[in-house]
Amino acid sequence: MKTAFTFGAWGQHGTILRSAMHPHPAPPRLPKNYRLVNDVIREHGEGRHLTTADVHALARRRQPGIGFTTVYRALNRLTEIGLVSEVRVPGAGMAYYEAQGAPHAHFHCEVCGRIDDLDYRLPDPVLQRIARSHGVTVSDALVTLVGRCAECRATA
Ligand SMILES: [Zn+2]
Ligand SMILES: [Zn+2]
Repeated sequence: MKTAFTFGAWGQHGTILRSAMHPHPAPPRLPKNYRLVNDVIREHGEGRHLTTADVHALARRRQPGIGFTTVYRALNRLTEIGLVSEVRVPGAGMAYYEAQGAPHAHFHCEVCGRIDDLDYRLPDPVLQRIARSHGVTVSDALVTLVGRCAECRATA
């Protein structure tokens, strides 16, 4: 069972596809502004989750003229080609972005709204069993735990 598929690979029915596992895929020819957005996200490292507005603010420090729409389009494109991950958290109201990295889960604080990385991924045997028993192909598994972060627990 191979789990390190390259981006865009498709497997047999009932197998797991892990997209964009390659840490440094050869970046396709990207416009300069898109590369700037990619750099901004990469420099902020894993474990940080930035909104489009955050990325825009950071990108403007490097290139004051860059527009919000450009940043928005760049994020979509970078997500498409697997350099950036969109963090989808139910109830968060907006999309967050992080550098593509090892699969992990998220913790969403329902009081202050912060989103932290958790070093956890659903084990492959579990995903394989689910894929087999439902006759489906699993391309991704998004795990989000919801609760109160340590700081919010302390002030409650
Ligand atoms: Zn909190
Ligand atoms: Zn994350």
